[in-house]
Amino acid sequence: MIHIQNYIGGHFVSAVDEQTLEDYNPATGLCIATIPRSKKGDVEHAVNAAKAAQQEWGSLSILERANWLDKIADALEKKSELIATTETLDTGKPIALSRRVDAARSVSNFRFFADFSRKQPELKFEMEDAMNYVHRSPIGTVGLITPWNLPLYLLTWKVAPALLMGNTIVAKPSEFTPLTANILAETFDELSLPPGVFNLVHGLGHEVGQSILEHEFIKGISFTGGTATGRIVAKTAAPMFKKLSLELGGKNATIILKDADLEIAVDGAVRAAFTNSGQVCLCGSRILIDESIAEKFSKLFVDKVNQIRVGDPLDEHSTMGSVISVEHLEKVESYIDLALQEGGEILTGGTRKSTNFSGPNGVGAFIRPTVITGLPHTSRCATEEIFGPVVTLHTFENELQAIEMANHSEYGLAGSVWTQDIERGRIFASQIETGIVWVNTWLHRDLRTPFGGVKNSGVGREGGRWSLEFFSEMTNVCVKDTLAEQ
Ligand code: NDP
Repeated sequence: MIHIQNYIGGHFVSAVDEQTLEDYNPATGLCIATIPRSKKGDVEHAVNAAKAAQQEWGSLSILERANWLDKIADALEKKSELIATTETLDTGKPIALSRRVDAARSVSNFRFFADFSRKQPELKFEMEDAMNYVHRSPIGTVGLITPWNLPLYLLTWKVAPALLMGNTIVAKPSEFTPLTANILAETFDELSLPPGVFNLVHGLGHEVGQSILEHEFIKGISFTGGTATGRIVAKTAAPMFKKLSLELGGKNATIILKDADLEIAVDGAVRAAFTNSGQVCLCGSRILIDESIAEKFSKLFVDKVNQIRVGDPLDEHSTMGSVISVEHLEKVESYIDLALQEGGEILTGGTRKSTNFSGPNGVGAFIRPTVITGLPHTSRCATEEIFGPVVTLHTFENELQAIEMANHSEYGLAGSVWTQDIERGRIFASQIETGIVWVNTWLHRDLRTPFGGVKNSGVGREGGRWSLEFFSEMTNVCVKDTLAEQ
């Protein structure tokens, strides 16, 4: 059991009113930490610290800040095992996944942006009698608010470009998964990052998160989380004309065309559906299958799902851990009940009992990966974001219908198409209303590419130059060549 604190102005401090919250390991039900329950006053302190640090940090050159990012990456890399274990304890995800994804990506987020910035050409637009060049300056102090599913991965995805472009930061991680953000703060402290450049305030979304949104000195908000919270963020921050980046929920389709290589498609569809217990915004939680291959695909799919080893997250051999909390498990189960009421049939999973592990006390938030068939693609289970290990299978008669079904969603984050005809895959990709489409793969990421959603999945893009643009203001400077007039 550890007691973590806020990190403000280079000091670890308790909440002003000394209130705390408890942080639980969802696989064991045990309290593993206490965190500050921060409020408006704590945000005020963090903003004041950021304000004081802004001038010095913002006046470093981008190359000097890129060097900082490399130093941070090196320091985090040395802590990879600590990060992976901590993430597993906080989220209930398998240790192998924490190592491969969370710890590795937290390091590469810093390394990528450092490297990327060094390759950026100067933006210039030449005229006959003048030269335009684009000068970038920091936004100032930015608020970063992140969810619990990929805690340090998503926080560093924002922190790295925000620091690089010269901003100071007030960050709030999810109160369910605060521990690796604390490791990041400790790392900054060990490296003597100038005090106030990075400030971390823990607590509840509607208290500390809302105070960050409302603070007039915070000029930009980068938010990743659910669509309902995204609406609150936009409602608060947009009238204050803050720069806003919203990465929200998804209900992504995995589309299996009749010429798909079934072995590859089944592997990909299982990974897309159940990685991190289905708690990735990009997860393919509805699978649309050409009816001519549906029976064969479904059988192979269910066989593969039954090979998933739900177990102790700290066991190297587990391929699925718990979900984030018992409350979330109950939400997932309520959708399984709803599926049955709506006429669905469970092909596998659906209960806690069938897991071979439920934590040492039998109270862990474990459930078997669940596959449901027989529901219309318009049913609630097939249209609402469950954000758990539940997938629904649907069939289509022709490709036009497949596209209509894929687009029948309020969300538009991602999707994947599986076919051996690459050209057909590209045509599909151009007709699916999402920000990201994969053809014959899933979650294959190049950090230079635009990442984000359309419809209710968000506003704006992260990644590569889109992150650099978001975290900076641009001034076009037009210099007239007076000699040309003589
Ligand atoms: P939430 O929207 O519940 O929370 C996200 C963050 O916002 C948390 O830190 C939360 O704090 C905070 N928050 C809550 N209320 C407010 C408020 N009024 N003002 C400011 N901040 C607030 O999302 P979850 O943590 O449940 O994460 C799951 C969701 O995130 C899913 O919908 C998923 O699809 C989405 N997501 C999207 C991604 C993308 O890139 N598009 C990537 C990953 C996840 P607290 O925890 O204290 O409530």
